[in-house]
Amino acid sequence: MRTPIIAGNWKLHNTRDQAIALSTGIKSQTSDVTDVEIVVAPVFTALNAVADALRGSSIKVAAQNCYPQAQGAFTGEVSPQLVEDIGCNYVIIGHSERRQLFGEDDAFINRKVHALAETGLGTILCIGETLAERESGQMFNVLRRQVCEGLKGLGIESMVRVVIAYEPVWAIGTGKTASDQQAQESHAFIRSLLDELYGAQVAGATRILYGGSVKPDNVDGLMAQPDVDGALVGGASLKPADFVRIIKFQKV
Ligand code: PEP
Repeated sequence: MRTPIIAGNWKLHNTRDQAIALSTGIKSQTSDVTDVEIVVAPVFTALNAVADALRGSSIKVAAQNCYPQAQGAFTGEVSPQLVEDIGCNYVIIGHSERRQLFGEDDAFINRKVHALAETGLGTILCIGETLAERESGQMFNVLRRQVCEGLKGLGIESMVRVVIAYEPVWAIGTGKTASDQQAQESHAFIRSLLDELYGAQVAGATRILYGGSVKPDNVDGLMAQPDVDGALVGGASLKPADFVRIIKFQKV
């Protein structure tokens, strides 16, 4: 009912030529995949080339960030409209690296949510608790705040293009993955929040991805959880064989 998404976040990696090679390699090794939506998120400088290289395939392209204005005196920023103009399909927003390293808060991320809703782009909204928040019993409060503030004021009609990525900060790039049960618990909670905010139909239709050290050897268990609808993959998405194996997760 919810088509799984496997998305690769390449972060600050790959020259233009490396990005083209990686994307065309993924394309050729996944031509038999019809039941999974594949997304790759290169750096801005490679977006255009990757979008061109993947044109005509079913693989979608995401930007890793955007600024919540269409145009103007915002030196160094890129708008959703410009990202859409070069053939991208999604923008990742609220990644924990942007929250932690660049000081982005829920209010700013909410402005991006609204800016993206003005375009035809999909939104991949990342949320997730730190280890300190989890260990101090704040996890559910943090997730509630990030979902409610992040989606504040967004009309139900825009939810069809919103994907949530649950990424516990302690699992990103650390090699520590949430257990299948921990992921399911958080995903079920996030879905219950969507139910509170938008009702059962939206809650049942919204894809919730898990992110945090997803690898070939843990993807199958995670994807077997009823509320895990895909994965946002960092490190392993840079290794073609690993990423393709994650895309071709086994139903257990
Ligand atoms: C990410 O950057 O979103 C991520 C989940 O990274 P990794 O898979 O490397 O933990």
